[in-house]
Amino acid sequence: MYSHNELYERWTVNLNTKRVKSARARRVVLKTKKHAVRLWSATDIDLIPTSEEDEHPFLKKIGPDVLNESCSFELIEERLTSKNFHKKKASTLMLDQTFFAGLGNYLRSEILFDAKIHPDDRPYDLDKTEITEWANSIKNISHLAYKTGGFTVSKSLADKNKANGESKRSYRHAVFMRNKYECLDCKSRIERKWYGKRKLDYCPSCQIQRAKV
Ligand SMILES: [Zn+2]
Repeated sequence: MYSHNELYERWTVNLNTKRVKSARARRVVLKTKKHAVRLWSATDIDLIPTSEEDEHPFLKKIGPDVLNESCSFELIEERLTSKNFHKKKASTLMLDQTFFAGLGNYLRSEILFDAKIHPDDRPYDLDKTEITEWANSIKNISHLAYKTGGFTVSKSLADKNKANGESKRSYRHAVFMRNKYECLDCKSRIERKWYGKRKLDYCPSCQIQRAKV
């Protein structure tokens, strides 16, 4: 099943025994013995035989899923340095679903901070070690967020930031939504850049620009 969800659609998970009422249109129900997963309000839903998945107009364009085991560090490095991608800015690449599937806006900021990559640098501007760091961060930070339900820092760090009075939208991250705060590594002030309508938070001291501008 393919469905393209943007901001309006909603997924819910409930026990089968719970009666669910909603003013939204119910579009999909997936049931197990205990639970029901529902998709509400979605308009873009396709059922595709597995053998035809690769021909789907959207699916055939998307890159590898970072969380998939078959997506190795070597594959990520290869793609970063490939002709199609190596002259694109980091800020663009990290949201380009043809590069890798599944990276969203907070992961973009968190991955680039973890790898110490400036958002306007391109793979072309970096040396081998920096590319390796970046590839590692793409995989590791995405995995961490997946395992923890959206945290991109360790629990002890999140607890520390929480104790300092930060709200959940910032204490679970290292830079994203922390633009009022100090960098956890160097104490510089986290800054915000806008790319289109999407924000990117970064540390100007840790993420030095390598490209000559
Ligand atoms: Zn810093």
